[in-house]
Amino acid sequence: MPVSICRIYPDVLGTYGDGGNAVVLAKRLQWRGHEAEIVDVRTGDPVPATCDLYVLGGGEDDPQTTAANALAVDNALGRAIDAGAVVFAVCAGYQILGTTFNGSDGPRPGLGLADWATTTRPRHRPVGELLVEPSPELELPTLTGYENHASLTVLGPEARPLGTVASGVGNGDGSEGAIQGRILGTYMHGPALARNAALADLVLSWIVGPLGPLDDEEPEDLRRERITSARSSRRRWFARR
Ligand code: GLN
Repeated sequence: MPVSICRIYPDVLGTYGDGGNAVVLAKRLQWRGHEAEIVDVRTGDPVPATCDLYVLGGGEDDPQTTAANALAVDNALGRAIDAGAVVFAVCAGYQILGTTFNGSDGPRPGLGLADWATTTRPRHRPVGELLVEPSPELELPTLTGYENHASLTVLGPEARPLGTVASGVGNGDGSEGAIQGRILGTYMHGPALARNAALADLVLSWIVGPLGPLDDEEPEDLRRERITSARSSRRRWFARR
């Protein structure tokens, strides 16, 4: 059976090329001899509850609200997570998995599939390069992404951060992203998995187990170039709790 990668609502969630994350995941499996398929589900179409991996991208407040409403209808994503599916979610997608987020008409409940809350609107929208030192136990190299959001995210006890912010804002308290079980959320656009091959492999390893190396010279060049760029224009502010 091919590894099935469900790209949720690419018509409304997918700013900054986030849809490319699904392509990177599928390609990195195929290059190693695994079968993989991308299942695109547009808003209004039923989300299959049987895929191995679900990918959600970012979006403006209106499309984000549309996506959250549509996903809440039958909770297929929740059933898939309960059955052991992996989720990789970026920015708006990350936010709606949690308990609350800022929708187009203000704060509203999220899908409640993960223990994080997105409630505070910062005075200044964090926009720019995001540089992240991953939590040591993940054994990942420095991560790079691009952020543009108007919300801050607080993790509950069930979730742990993906890493700490070296440049940029991320969650807003010095941490960035979240991992809970097999759900990984992040503020990194890019697409994040094109910039960070090791992060793609971490997510895939949760499905197929440890993966052998690939020739990653090109993504590594990109990652190093983005790290240099972010370090030269270091951005940092954190919300007061
Ligand atoms: N609308 C959300 C916010 O501004 C998410 C933005 C995004 O996905 N880039 O916080």
